[in-house]
Amino acid sequence: MKPIIALVGRPNVGKSTLFNRMTRSRDAIVADFAGLTRDRHYGNGRQGRHEYIVIDTGGFEPDAGSGIFREMARQTRQAVAEADVVVFVVDVRAGVSAQDHDIANYLRRLGKPCVLAGNKAEGMQGGVQLAEFYELGLGEVFPVSAAHGQGVRGLVEQALEFVPEPPEDPHEAEPQEGGAIRLAVAGRPNVGKSTLINAWLGEERLVAFDLPGTTRDAITVPLERGGQKFELIDTAGLRRKGRVFEAIEKFSVVKTLQAIESAHVVLLLLDATQGVTDQDAHIAGYILESGRAVVVAVNKWDAVDSYERQQLERSIETRLSFLKFASMHFISAQKRQGLAPLWASITQAYKAATRKMPTPVLTRVLLEAVQFQAPKRSGSFRPKLRYAHQGGMNPPIIVVHGNSLEHVTDAYKRFLEGRFRKEFDLVGTPLRIEMKTQA
Ligand code: GDP
Ligand code: GDP
Repeated sequence: MKPIIALVGRPNVGKSTLFNRMTRSRDAIVADFAGLTRDRHYGNGRQGRHEYIVIDTGGFEPDAGSGIFREMARQTRQAVAEADVVVFVVDVRAGVSAQDHDIANYLRRLGKPCVLAGNKAEGMQGGVQLAEFYELGLGEVFPVSAAHGQGVRGLVEQALEFVPEPPEDPHEAEPQEGGAIRLAVAGRPNVGKSTLINAWLGEERLVAFDLPGTTRDAITVPLERGGQKFELIDTAGLRRKGRVFEAIEKFSVVKTLQAIESAHVVLLLLDATQGVTDQDAHIAGYILESGRAVVVAVNKWDAVDSYERQQLERSIETRLSFLKFASMHFISAQKRQGLAPLWASITQAYKAATRKMPTPVLTRVLLEAVQFQAPKRSGSFRPKLRYAHQGGMNPPIIVVHGNSLEHVTDAYKRFLEGRFRKEFDLVGTPLRIEMKTQA
């Protein structure tokens, strides 16, 4: 599981600027998908071999009053509680404030590993302004400038000191012949995740459950369908209670993100009675950002009439247009309808995500596509597409080589994507196409 770094601090100290710095590398990938609204509070980052999830907790008010503020404070506390390490951001230009003291007290009581970041420290000589922050009782202050990117690497390094070393092999989650497909069921509260999982488990005659007691450990449940092994990754803090599982915790974005990250395939569950909400779109965004294969299931299909069904299909088309590549199912977990075909789609998505695409076949498909329709000339440049090879899997990456490829339009890339998807039956996986121009 990827470690979680939570950014806390009062408003305006530079948390979101720091967040952007810490998650920058991934932004470029996600920018490619039209229609994707990002939740800017959660993001992925990487430094060296370390991958991590960053949470920007927004303005931090340990004991905020009422209404929306209270709810925000609750979410902040949950995020901090679930984090492996907290980065407490202060503004060295503004000096220590009373609110900084409140936050420091809160963090000290919590006893979480904590790194103190003195932001806006660009152009500052020596430790005069930093010294007063020692009175917060959280140890050394690390001067950084989020706006200028100074000291951020060192800060992240310091934060990562508190998390276990990642495995030597970064592709631990890489597929293995005959191995289990790791599946995460993701969706906002009340869409029916527990009901679905219990419906599945109810069919099992014998499953060896082995549920470790600690909350930090991922809980996985082994399943088998049609000779294929699956491992169900817990997203909801499921605990066994008698013969059924129940969610013992409130919905946790952090758990959802970690489960998505460690899965091969994510089943995104929607609620037919609620339509596609912002939270659904955000979860879909996380899945896409993670590059995981995905299957979409609309649950509670039993509870909507034909008019509502039509409305829903339309809202999925517009709001989740970036998941066009995924197969879609309409199910009722409660009535156990439509569940069997899910397994075929999950397996199909996994196979697509891990497909091997030989260079000669990729190149043939590329050249046939060009023959069918050549890329448009741009000014005096006509892109020349020469050959293609596979640059990675899970998600699959196709690297196209040639000349003047920076002039290939997005529309043309989508045309190529369609061709590749058709040839290799890439249903259920994102596909990235990269252009490499020869000098
Ligand atoms: P947040 O409310 O804690 O998320 O703070 P923001 O990231 O929105 O930043 C608040 C203000 O501080 C913005 O005007 C930023 O441009 C500015 N800011 C952020 N980081 C730095 C920095 O390293 N140096 C300086 N001088 N200003 C910064
Ligand atoms: P979770 O929070 O995503 O785990 O959702 P639950 O499994 O706890 O389900 C939330 C509510 O939706 C419960 O009251 C379920 O009985 C109900 N529910 C779940 N699946 C279905 C379904 O297929 N049809 C209908 N009508 N209700 C369902």
